[in-house]
Amino acid sequence: MNLIIMGAPGAGKGTQAELIAARENIPAISTGQILRDAMKAGTELGNVAKSYVESGGLVPDEIVIGIVRDYLVSDACKNGFILDGFPRSIAQAQALEDMGVKIDAVLSIEVDDARIVKRMSGRRVCECGASYHVDYNPPAVADVCDKCGKALYIRKDDKAETVINRLETYHSQTEPLLDFYRERGLLVAVEGQEKVEDTTELVREALSKIDK
Ligand code: ADP
Ligand code: ZN
Repeated sequence: MNLIIMGAPGAGKGTQAELIAARENIPAISTGQILRDAMKAGTELGNVAKSYVESGGLVPDEIVIGIVRDYLVSDACKNGFILDGFPRSIAQAQALEDMGVKIDAVLSIEVDDARIVKRMSGRRVCECGASYHVDYNPPAVADVCDKCGKALYIRKDDKAETVINRLETYHSQTEPLLDFYRERGLLVAVEGQEKVEDTTELVREALSKIDK
């Protein structure tokens, strides 16, 4: 299955991407995670990305398109893949189409802005890519990752003013993609629930109906 997951920041894309990846045994690629890893490692990519990520804007298209292109042609993706956080602009979607990669479905997880802002304040993440919420998806031991045991932390771009910018960026640049994919008959929308398991169940049902 070749799947794209879309949704506002904090809608739960990353969490659902990981769950589907494990179930289908295909890799999930998160452009946000790749950029954060690069920032942490202090690579050239990381240094370029930093100001965009920390202000809540988009990293320039040609940079992320290059990352995704390299990945999609690699052996890791030969049985399918999940794109989490890409495409995020019409130019990125167009570039993906031009790569000639077949997409089976675009899953949109819908959560309204008021709930997004509330959720982001409780989000905790781990270096390993896992993410939690203090109320909706708490780890077994407070502030410790269930998967790898490392300490959880708050993402720098989860602070309130950056969240507002990320939401604005989402509405102006990413939301137009919903029509782009609806026109192509690929869009599958699911209402994001407060409990992760409830969203997972809706996602599972929705995906069971798509052709692959
Ligand atoms: P969220 O969806 O919760 O905002 P992500 O981890 O997907 O988080 O992305 C974090 C940040 O990384 C974005 O705000 C943006 O600055 C950058 N980013 C991630 N993916 C892309 C992309 N496809 N194009 C441009 N910038 C991106
Ligand atoms: Zn972890």
